[in-house]
Amino acid sequence: MPSIRQSYPVTIPEESATSYSFLKQDTRRKTSAMSGSLLVSTFMGLLINQARNSKSAQGLVGLKNLGNTCFMNSILQCLSNTQSLRDYCLHNSHRRDLKNNNRTNTALMEEFAKLIQTMWSSSGSEAISPSEFKTQIQRYAPRFVGYNQQDAQEFLRFLLDGLHNEVNRVTVRPRATTEDFDHLADEEKGKKMWSKYLEREDSKIVDLFVGQLKSSLTCTDCGYCSTVFDPFWDLSLPIAKKGYGEVSLMDCMRLFTKEDVLDGDEKPTCYRCKARRRCTKKFTIQRFPKILVLHLKRFSEARVRSSKLSTFVSFPLKDLDLREFASDRSSYAVYNLYAVSNHSGTTMGGHYTAYCCNPASGEWYTYNDSRVTPMSSSQVRSSDAYVLFYERVGL
Ligand SMILES: [Zn+2]
Repeated sequence: MPSIRQSYPVTIPEESATSYSFLKQDTRRKTSAMSGSLLVSTFMGLLINQARNSKSAQGLVGLKNLGNTCFMNSILQCLSNTQSLRDYCLHNSHRRDLKNNNRTNTALMEEFAKLIQTMWSSSGSEAISPSEFKTQIQRYAPRFVGYNQQDAQEFLRFLLDGLHNEVNRVTVRPRATTEDFDHLADEEKGKKMWSKYLEREDSKIVDLFVGQLKSSLTCTDCGYCSTVFDPFWDLSLPIAKKGYGEVSLMDCMRLFTKEDVLDGDEKPTCYRCKARRRCTKKFTIQRFPKILVLHLKRFSEARVRSSKLSTFVSFPLKDLDLREFASDRSSYAVYNLYAVSNHSGTTMGGHYTAYCCNPASGEWYTYNDSRVTPMSSSQVRSSDAYVLFYERVGL
């Protein structure tokens, strides 16, 4: 099969569009809308169907290690197996978003999509070099320049943030207002805060990955409870300790949402008492994302890694039920696992791999840089598991 890169019409990068006259730009858009989006999406539709039907599922292609870039490869494979994100790239829907926004910076999204397209059209015999993509992520986040080992979760954050900024449907962010919704009931306040967030940050990436966390602060003196709602792109879970042996993901979730006491220097000011008071703080999930990324805090700190916990955290592949952590217990929040970014080794020297469930075949594979090998789903759980990717069921 020919490479996708050769088969779709080349569109002029958005940067050069500014020099075009309106008429030309308009023509260019119309033409590319027809020859580009339509044809390519039809072609991509065929490809996806082919991938579904063929025995040798696609997307099973390795990524070359460019020198300590296994952290990047591991995350790229997890994202490549994120079906909705993959389809967004394969259908070239990102192009439409990039065009609508008329942004000057589109290179990161373009390179990311190109890479995903190549990964899903390649025969899988030879590993792909993500060097062009790496150039763009470095431009966006200069900390990824060079060939040092980096933290996979931090990389994921930067990458999703970068992609989001380029395909954000909001082109002009409204001015920040100080309007508060404290007079509203929690449910209503959560909704208002969410739509306020969407007024500024609204993209396919947000549609998929962003959820909303509610933190409740209760004054131990007068009982007044104030709530804050914050968007989250992933949850960093502390690893529960239970003497020796394994802990469960639910233990970690319970530790993360456990009621915390803020006392001493941390005492917040109670709105009703008008004084600093001892308070309790608790997290609940107000809004569950479609894709839930759970980061197991194995490292003391991501930047300065002084120690690593290699505790075995047991997690379900199917039916992770998170209802007990919901602000509203009646909400249905069940997830299935589809990818894991693993870290093996120590804080000083380590290696990243990915275990991913192929969305076309439903089979699990190990992605170790350029090598891709089938694996049993029973091997997915290990003490190397570092970032877990769950997809919500029944949406
Ligand atoms: Zn109080």
